[in-house]
Amino acid sequence: MAKGVSVSPGAAKVKGNFRRCGCGGNFSLCGVNVHVLPAGPIQTNAYLLTSRPAGGAVLIDAPEGVWAKVDPVLRAEGCRLTGLWLTHGHWDHTQGAAEVVRRTGAEVSAHRADRPLIETPEVMKSFLMPGLTVEAVRVDRWLDDGDTVDALGETVQVRHVPGHCPGSLMFYFPQAGAAFSGDALFRGGIGRTDLPGGDFDQLERSIRSRIYTLPDTTAVFPGHGEATTVGDEKKGNPYVCA
Ligand SMILES: [Zn+2]
Ligand SMILES: [Zn+2]
Repeated sequence: MAKGVSVSPGAAKVKGNFRRCGCGGNFSLCGVNVHVLPAGPIQTNAYLLTSRPAGGAVLIDAPEGVWAKVDPVLRAEGCRLTGLWLTHGHWDHTQGAAEVVRRTGAEVSAHRADRPLIETPEVMKSFLMPGLTVEAVRVDRWLDDGDTVDALGETVQVRHVPGHCPGSLMFYFPQAGAAFSGDALFRGGIGRTDLPGGDFDQLERSIRSRIYTLPDTTAVFPGHGEATTVGDEKKGNPYVCA
């Protein structure tokens, strides 16, 4: 759930190591293609990472209906989805997860602190928009700060960035200079901290110690809205500036 961020689907202006590949909302980084696929009732960014040489793919977050956007990309690129990485357990990031798992058998990874949200989503009932439902999904692999995950020819660093949600994770690709921040940090914003388990001081600490310590050129791909860089947010973020 985002904090009043402006959402422009698929758009991005990034100065980091990323290079736009010219097809609205797609990026290329060290041989991995990044497809920005906003979906669901509040336009949550799902990121589909594909590697044609490896024939593999990983999906970061699964908003409602995301499978309809993921499937054609997998077919076009001849890639098989093996992993679904959840940045946190809020419904707008998990609503499409069960369908993705049914279709692909992808292994689901998340932080243990969000287990109740992901595996018993009825606990979020009072925060759901009217008429929405969320299906439970089983997590196969619990990740924590300092873990690494080998995927698509990269060694990805896992960083725990709680404060918006207790189990918020960020996935950092050091070779490519890119980080997927979920709802911890947005372009010009931060995640809301008024939901259960939210804590502003903790979020500020997470951002300062786990995100702003990355190189300034690191591209940041958030859970809502446009991409940014660590350097731009350190300078200009009105909530947490360095
Ligand atoms: Zn969200
Ligand atoms: Zn959220």
